[in-house]
Amino acid sequence: MEDSATKLDKLAHRNARLKALLQKYKQTHHLQSALIQLSEQASTVAELTLLYPAIHNILQDYIPSKSFYVVLHNPINNTLELSYFADEKDGISVPLRQEHNFSHGVTGYVFQQGKTTYFSREQMKTATEQGLFKALGTPAEHWIGVPVYREKTIIGVLVAQSYNKAKGYSEQQIELLEVMSLYLATAIERVKKRELLESEVKIRTRALTQSNEALNVEIEQRKKALERQHILFKISELATQSKNLDDVYVKVHEIIKTITYADNLYIALYDRESNWLSFPYCIDEFNDNAIPRPFAKGYSELVLSTEQSQIIDIKRAEKLIKQGVIERPVKVAANRRATSWLGAPLKTSQGVIGLIVCQAYNDQHIFNQDDCELITFVSHQIANVLQTHIANQELKQSHQELAYRINEKTKELSQANMHLQMQIEERKKIEQQLYHDAHHDSLTGLPNRSLFLTQLEKTLQHYQRYPEQQFAVLFIDLDKFKDINDQLGHQAGDQFLINVSESFSHCIREHDLLARLGGDEFVILLTHLTEHQQAEDVAKRLIEIMKKPFCMKGICIQSGASIGITHSKISYRNTDEIIRDADAAMYYAKNAGRSRFECFHPLLNASSNHADAENMHHLDNLPMYFRSSEIITLNEQKQSETLLEAFGEHPVLGSTSFEVLKKFASDRVQHFEVELQLITQAFQQLRSHHLSKVLFPCSSLVLERINFQALCTLLTTHSTQHVCLLFNEQEIRYASAVQIQNLKNLVDMGYSIGLNEFAKDRCELNLLTEFKFDYLLLSSTFSKRVLQQENYNLQLQGVLAITKIQQSKVIAKGPSILNYRTLLEKHGLSLFIGKQHTLKPFSNFQPNPLKQQQ
Ligand code: GH3
Ligand code: MG
Repeated sequence: MEDSATKLDKLAHRNARLKALLQKYKQTHHLQSALIQLSEQASTVAELTLLYPAIHNILQDYIPSKSFYVVLHNPINNTLELSYFADEKDGISVPLRQEHNFSHGVTGYVFQQGKTTYFSREQMKTATEQGLFKALGTPAEHWIGVPVYREKTIIGVLVAQSYNKAKGYSEQQIELLEVMSLYLATAIERVKKRELLESEVKIRTRALTQSNEALNVEIEQRKKALERQHILFKISELATQSKNLDDVYVKVHEIIKTITYADNLYIALYDRESNWLSFPYCIDEFNDNAIPRPFAKGYSELVLSTEQSQIIDIKRAEKLIKQGVIERPVKVAANRRATSWLGAPLKTSQGVIGLIVCQAYNDQHIFNQDDCELITFVSHQIANVLQTHIANQELKQSHQELAYRINEKTKELSQANMHLQMQIEERKKIEQQLYHDAHHDSLTGLPNRSLFLTQLEKTLQHYQRYPEQQFAVLFIDLDKFKDINDQLGHQAGDQFLINVSESFSHCIREHDLLARLGGDEFVILLTHLTEHQQAEDVAKRLIEIMKKPFCMKGICIQSGASIGITHSKISYRNTDEIIRDADAAMYYAKNAGRSRFECFHPLLNASSNHADAENMHHLDNLPMYFRSSEIITLNEQKQSETLLEAFGEHPVLGSTSFEVLKKFASDRVQHFEVELQLITQAFQQLRSHHLSKVLFPCSSLVLERINFQALCTLLTTHSTQHVCLLFNEQEIRYASAVQIQNLKNLVDMGYSIGLNEFAKDRCELNLLTEFKFDYLLLSSTFSKRVLQQENYNLQLQGVLAITKIQQSKVIAKGPSILNYRTLLEKHGLSLFIGKQHTLKPFSNFQPNPLKQQQ
């Protein structure tokens, strides 16, 4: 049996061992939990800086040292860098100097050795002395360095040092340090990985953020591009959808409002030629009616001259004013100055045409670069649209101007045309009037001789082609018309003529033609006749009408109509022959007792070359006689001159004046011969009746070239003072040059000449001045008219004035009524036709004395 002491000893020893074991287990447990903690830390800490204090805490509990540091290898510069440092002596916050290089010290030595190394103070000293490493820092009593490995690569050194000689490091503690180095390596690895991951995440995040930003920028740019595209679209619409420039301006304003603050906006246009600015569009809270002005030194001018967009705030404005670039108009009040002003030029291919301006007052908006950029962009687009519109408008204006001018010209022309038209109309009317006047009788309005002859000519031509379409001409002379004139006055005579013409026109058909030849002579052309009787019926009607007496002033006078009818004949060659025959028939009717009609018969016309020519009465076989008329003054004072007129006894017509009879001459030779005979006879009368001077009417035939010599020879047989040859005024008017010359020759030879039947149809004063007529016998027509119409009196005064100079005697043939003569004398006439005597007839013309001589 063991003794109790031994047992006690054993128990004590066991107890001590158990205590030690317990202690050891306790410690191990503690350590275990610390290591678990460390392991957790190592797997969770985000940064190494948080791990080191955890290590340090464990160390403080299990290792007799508070001094502890960690260096880690930086592979980039191959240095050992202090990662954590806590030192009893050197303190925790040892400044980490750059030159503090662990590589050369004991730490570097451990790093190079790659093994856990323990140094006592002495061993350390010896090693430094041996040059194994340099002594750095405060020397420790116990120094232990444990390498930190990651996989097989050493990445740093964990160091614990003790300054207490008694407190060294047990093997267990060294092992703990080694374990900690493992954890540290893991933690470093994790942290590094995490750091790497985080940095990678950071890098990725940064990259993502960057790409996000880029995307944002891109999105922003796209947005802008879209906005611009939208604006561009709207601007392009301006070009096509705006009706006029004003509309464009309004729409431009709307567009700009979508871009920026544009409560106040104006568009200015610059005219380079005139150097003026105009403001076709201006919306402004202070001034919305900008008036044009010459180019000056305003904000707008700055945009125009720089051709750049300009943002002007108050500060810049002041600066520009100081520089003299801008001059502020004095009249603009300070509170009405724009606090922010943005102007963009309207640039086109032809240069800057103006600008768009937005402005803000009272800091309502501050224009920035973005505004500026966008408005600049928009302005470029708008400029082109405006340019097109302005050009279009100018074109339109010039078109309008042209159209206006064309319109005006057209108006002018149409007015001128109208005027011309009126003038033409007027002229036509005048011409028509003139034509009418020339072809109509002024008193009755009936066609006159000229128109009648024209129509007759046409009818004759037509008849010559269509002989079955017969016609007839009625020659009408009123009976005793002179009586009406004489008893009722010339005016009454005129009225009677008017009445007669009206009555006659009722007796014929529409296609028949009634004309007044002159005086009381009328003619009617009847066409479309089928038998002679029709013309005779018309004549009967006319005669019947004329049987009605004409009454005026209580006096009734019976006139009548003597009518000669000639029917169409194929032998008619011209109108003269027709008129001549109708006239002859009328003459016959007159002589047969008036108020009757006679149809023309060849017997009436000696000149007709008809089969029954042997029955014709030759002019030179007709018994002739003279009728003498005295020339007297108003108081019946006889003058020395005697008018001697030849008459013949026509077997059909009866007593007929030679004026009419000469128409029956078979030819001009016969006519002339008869005339010569008459002159010879007149000379005989002159002698036998002791007439002092004979006024003898003869025809212009005697003045013809072949006849004139014979006339002269005859005249020379008599004294020039006793004879005056009277020529019919109408014949002289139409005389040939030879006849006129011979008339002058007569004057030159000393013979008296005179004009007979002057102014029967018209008053030809020219004749009076052309020749020296010794006598002028006014036609009875003219004499009478002088008393009734003022213009005839004027003509008479003209006649008297000329004849006074010419010393011609003027004899009025007119009415032999004393009353008339008295009136005529008042008008300046003093000589009249007095008593008439029929002289003894003579027949059987003497043979032509000239022929006898031959
Ligand atoms: P007769 O029966 O022989 O025809 O004689 P008459 O009185 O009709 O005289 P005649 O035919 O020879 O002359 C016509 C006259 O008419 C001559 C002239 O005094 C007159 N006379 C001519 N023209 C006009 C005229 O226009 N107005 C008037 N009132 N009388 C005119
Ligand atoms: Mg008559």
